[in-house]
Amino acid sequence: MLNCRFVGELLERFDLGAFLQIQVSAELGTEKARELLARLYQLPLKNSRAVTRLGSYSFRDAKPLAIRLQFAQEEESLRQTLLHEIAHFLDHQTLLPNQNSRQPHGRSWQRWLERLGGQQNSGNSAALQQLYRQRLKPVARCKNCGALLKRLRRLPRGRRWLHRECGGLLVPLD
Ligand SMILES: [Zn+2]
Ligand SMILES: [Zn+2]
Repeated sequence: MLNCRFVGELLERFDLGAFLQIQVSAELGTEKARELLARLYQLPLKNSRAVTRLGSYSFRDAKPLAIRLQFAQEEESLRQTLLHEIAHFLDHQTLLPNQNSRQPHGRSWQRWLERLGGQQNSGNSAALQQLYRQRLKPVARCKNCGALLKRLRRLPRGRRWLHRECGGLLVPLD
């Protein structure tokens, strides 16, 4: 999975090429679908290291830049995330010139996701949650109850932080 450099390679692995051509053609016609999918195939696919998001689609103005996926997901979750991001790509690439912004998960995006057979709430991956827990580091200790606070990053400096459970002062560990 990790050595896919373009979205097209992952689409091949999931055997989604013909399916996408049919579904996108049904919305936009064969020619336009072929053109859009060719662009999707060549889109860079990047390995995201984020543990709080499963994937993302990035663009600048009208130009698609990349799809990023967190590859530490179960296969089915990865497939769902891919469909989710492809729906973003299709939604963005079919914007009319006078619509410069859309709700990221608005009606038109939902319509694409449905077209692709994607699931609305696929944001849960047990593997990702485990990865998240593994990345948590102890960052502070409560002066009052002695509890250890774990976070992905250390607490921002220059402020006093109180332990939510007991109200004690959190002392940063270095
Ligand atoms: Zn999204
Ligand atoms: Zn405490």
